[in-house]
Amino acid sequence: MTNTINIFWFRRDLRLTDNKGLFEALKGQIKVLPIFIFDSEILEMLPKDDPRVSFIYETLEEINIILQEDYGSSIQIYFGTPLEVYHQLNTHYKIETVYTNHDYEPYARQRDAEIKTFLEQNNIAFKTYKDQVIFEKDDIVKSDGTPYLVYTPYMKRWKAQFKTENIKSFPSETLLKHFVQHQKVEAPTLLNMGFESTKQRIAPYLATPEVIQNYETTRNFPAQDSTSKLGPHLRFGTVSVRYMISKAVSETNHVFWQELIWREFFMQILWHFPQTQTKSFKPQYDRIVWRNNEAEFKAWCEGKTGYPFIDAGMRQLNQTGFMHNRVRMLVGSFLCKHLLIDWRWGEAYFAEKLHDYEMASNIGNWQWVAGCGVDAAPYFRIFNPTTQIQKFDKDLKYINTWVPEYQEFTYPKPIVDHAAARERCLRVFKAALNAS
Ligand code: FAD
Repeated sequence: MTNTINIFWFRRDLRLTDNKGLFEALKGQIKVLPIFIFDSEILEMLPKDDPRVSFIYETLEEINIILQEDYGSSIQIYFGTPLEVYHQLNTHYKIETVYTNHDYEPYARQRDAEIKTFLEQNNIAFKTYKDQVIFEKDDIVKSDGTPYLVYTPYMKRWKAQFKTENIKSFPSETLLKHFVQHQKVEAPTLLNMGFESTKQRIAPYLATPEVIQNYETTRNFPAQDSTSKLGPHLRFGTVSVRYMISKAVSETNHVFWQELIWREFFMQILWHFPQTQTKSFKPQYDRIVWRNNEAEFKAWCEGKTGYPFIDAGMRQLNQTGFMHNRVRMLVGSFLCKHLLIDWRWGEAYFAEKLHDYEMASNIGNWQWVAGCGVDAAPYFRIFNPTTQIQKFDKDLKYINTWVPEYQEFTYPKPIVDHAAARERCLRVFKAALNAS
């Protein structure tokens, strides 16, 4: 056994700069072994050509090039369940402390509780830090100590607290020489883990001053494609949220800033109400008698509903792993309301396809769309998928990009009539919500 080491466990924070947990690990006296675990139980559930897995893999490779060239160290990569990996690490190293950053998803909370127990049984400390949000858990609560369920007062309180707290950065990048020297352990390849490299790539983010300043005027028009594409980078931590928020504040764009606060709003909701992973926040919505027609679901997934704005969104998602927010709201509403298909089906489809899939935001927004979440759209708000074109894609530029054949005879007829579907939705939702 070698000298005592500490471990830093990378998870949703794949960067060397301004990383709170990494900073805390590296500032100590003991050398730090950085690790990443490809969790076999999670990978098992993903498509074999999942671009998010390739993105993680390539990001780790990029970090390792820097670490190897400049510091003679590297992130040690494992494939297995985290508990198995810690068993293995515990036999090879004398570990004093494992450092990592918080992860708020229900599975991660359970995993971390198990790891903590295992480590403590072996006299190893487990220290975790807030890194992926400015405010977490109970940081922003109402004066009676209960969580906010409505966004606007949460956002106001968030901003007020942000002003009074000193948001620091944590310059982990200045301490990288405190990593242990490169260990000769074979890293798994994508192929070893049953994955293949993909054609779809996760795009770099575009949070330039221009994008942030113009955000308010351009963000609603999908053809302009003018949003930041920050989603996957915040999800995997390739950018620091503290850095992004300070950029939004310095460009004084409140709308952009408030979008980042929506992200934290939904994260605290999932933290306080983990049951919303599978259940409607408003339980009466779980009485809705969904039609769940599989052929209609397939048509929705494939972008063949005969409603060009809906089809354009779904095809953009299938081909690129991204869909514009305005269109996400529209396709979500169409699925739950026009087709009366359970929001959980749509949520699962997005979870598989979106490069920026993030559980709290996906569930929060799906429940918003279906009307069953906190601060959700009222059930009788049913977007008209045709008149929305006039408002948000007047020149048909977005539709022409993704559904070039929409005016040809080969294009399918609408799978439901808007007026009839609207009436049916109101009837079914009302029956569920009024049932005692
Ligand atoms: P921008 O518009 O440039 O916004 C910047 C960042 O703010 C985003 O990257 C994101 O982190 C945050 N943000 C913006 N809007 C929201 C919002 N409504 N809720 C929470 N955070 C927001 N966002 C996800 O990050 N992951 C998801 O899985 C996800 N699923 C969604 C499902 C549905 C049905 C809907 C209606 C929205 C969903 N969103 C999700 C929210 C939003 O659509 C995306 O964050 C946004 O479109 C991503 O593009 P962007 O990175 O260019 O964001």
